[in-house]
Amino acid sequence: MRRREFLGSSVSAGIIAGSGAQAPRELQAGGTGSTAYTVEVTIERPQPGQPHKGKVLAAIQPHCDDIAIFAGGTVLKLIDEGYSGVLIQMSNDSMAGAGSSVGDIVLKNERDTNEVARRLGLTETYFFNYPNHYMDGWSILEMRARLVFLFRLLKVDTVLVYDPSSLYERNPDHYVTAKAVEWACAIAGSEWDYPEHFKAGLKPHEVQEKYYFARGPQLVNRVVDISAYIDKKVYVNMALVTQGPAGDTGARLRRKLTAEGRKLPLLGDNDETANFQYTKRFALEYDRIRGQAHGLEYAEYFHYIPPDESDVDDYVQKHAVAL
Ligand SMILES: [Zn+2]
Repeated sequence: MRRREFLGSSVSAGIIAGSGAQAPRELQAGGTGSTAYTVEVTIERPQPGQPHKGKVLAAIQPHCDDIAIFAGGTVLKLIDEGYSGVLIQMSNDSMAGAGSSVGDIVLKNERDTNEVARRLGLTETYFFNYPNHYMDGWSILEMRARLVFLFRLLKVDTVLVYDPSSLYERNPDHYVTAKAVEWACAIAGSEWDYPEHFKAGLKPHEVQEKYYFARGPQLVNRVVDISAYIDKKVYVNMALVTQGPAGDTGARLRRKLTAEGRKLPLLGDNDETANFQYTKRFALEYDRIRGQAHGLEYAEYFHYIPPDESDVDDYVQKHAVAL
C-alpha cells in the first residue's frame, strides 16, 4: 500500500496495526510541518522470512546496559529478520558497577559489553572510550566525525539510540550520545562533509531509519512487539553482571532470603533460574506494562523515523504523463 493511501485509511484509528514495513511519514522532524504532540502509533509485529536481508544496523549506547534494557528485544527481532549489526559503545563505563577499582570496573563492563553484543547477535563492538559521566565536557564534533566515518565504512542503514528529543533526560552521556548520532546520520550522506573520506574509498551514506528510545516522556509512534523475543532479551540482560538492574541480582536476592530462612517460589531452586525469573519479572517489567497497554505480551517503545519521502517524487509518480 502506498504511503498516502495507508495514511488516509488509518489516521482516524489512532493506532496503526501494521507489519512495520510501511508507515506514515514522520512529521515531527525535518521541518515537515507538524507542531503536534499527538502522534499516530504503529505496532511493529514480527515479519516472516528475512525482509531486512542485506541491511545493516548500529546499536549505539553510552553505557553497557542501555540497549539491552530499552531496545534489546527490537535488536534481536531485526537481526532475526535479516539485518546484520554492530554495537557502538560511547563511554568507557568507568563510573558504574561493582569492582575493586576504576580500572577493574572498566574491564568488567567491557567484558559484559562484548557478551551483550554476542548474545544480541551483533558481529562487532566499537569502543569509543569517552569518560563515563563526563561526556558533555568532550567534543561532540569529534564524536560525530567518528560516527560519520563508521556509518560510511559499515554502510549503516538503521540506528537504535537514545531519543535526542526526549524530555527530562538528566544523564549527559545519554543526551550527548543521542545528539551526536542524530546529526551524524544526516551528514554521513553529504558529499561536502569530511570529503577526505572519499579519497580513502568511502562513499556518502545516509542512515535511513532511526529507532529512538527514552527513559522519560517522548513522542512514541512505534510499539515493537517483542513477545517472541522476551526470553532471549532476558538472557542478554543477564550478561550485565557489573552494572544494571539484571545480571545476578536474582541469585543474590535468593541467597539473602535463604540466609533469613525464607524463599520466593518465583526464583526457583538455583542461581540461573533466580536470575532469569528476577530479570523477566522485575528488571524488564516495563516491557510487560508497555505491551499490555497495546494488547501485546511484551513491547518496546520508540520514536521511529522512517526513510524520508519526497512530496515531489510522490506527486510525479501520481501525475506524470507521457509526452
Ligand atoms: Zn545509560
